[in-house]
Amino acid sequence: NTFADIKLTEIIRQNITMARYERPTPVQKYALPFILSKRDLMACAQTGSGKTAAFLVPILNQIYEQGPVQVKNNQRGRNKQYPLALVLAPTRELATQIYEESRKFSYRARVRPCVVYGGADVVAQMRDLSRGCHLLVATPGRLADMIDRGKVGLDYVKFLVLDEADRMLDMGFEPQIRRIVEEDNMPPTGRRQTLMFSATFPKEIQRLAQDFLDNYIFLAV
Ligand code: AMP
Repeated sequence: NTFADIKLTEIIRQNITMARYERPTPVQKYALPFILSKRDLMACAQTGSGKTAAFLVPILNQIYEQGPVQVKNNQRGRNKQYPLALVLAPTRELATQIYEESRKFSYRARVRPCVVYGGADVVAQMRDLSRGCHLLVATPGRLADMIDRGKVGLDYVKFLVLDEADRMLDMGFEPQIRRIVEEDNMPPTGRRQTLMFSATFPKEIQRLAQDFLDNYIFLAV
């Protein structure tokens, strides 16, 4: 019932300690081992459950363990970034919170997180992206825009997270989400690990889970 019981690399463990997380919350305790074992996951968890660290910690741990990060840059187009992990979130506020958590856990772990969302200066966000982006937190509309502008490529996404999936559908983001996840360059299920988090599990979320996840674990906390 401590983070020491979970097999994590030393730097990530230190970052958890620096964040003053002493004990894993239930969603962290159950989801972390499944995610570390590379399984797809559908988790029903509320805001405040600790779900953000439940996906960020095992993703950053896996990126770190896979060795020095090499993101192909300047391949096609100027300063195009190829994130290894992509987190989709419904709102600017949630995207910012996830980004702040990712900064804590990626400290000294050779991973540069970025965040993009609508309603803010796109030029400033493109400038930040161009400094390097291994983990991208994004709202669906702004990410679609960045893809259209040739600033982000999904070719090397190994970890895909849909956070608060039910809220993203409530806000009408399903077409953008489907466009992003089903885009030609996105590695298919089996070649990426996909994690979905949702407070509720209605028919529409079940259908997304069927379409986006591969042989997934279902977790309700
Ligand atoms: P979340 O549900 O991911 O939005 O997290 C809710 C809040 O709980 C955030 O402020 C986190 O920083 C905090 N938190 C998450 N997990 C833990 C933990 N294991 N110990 C202490 N605080 C935590």
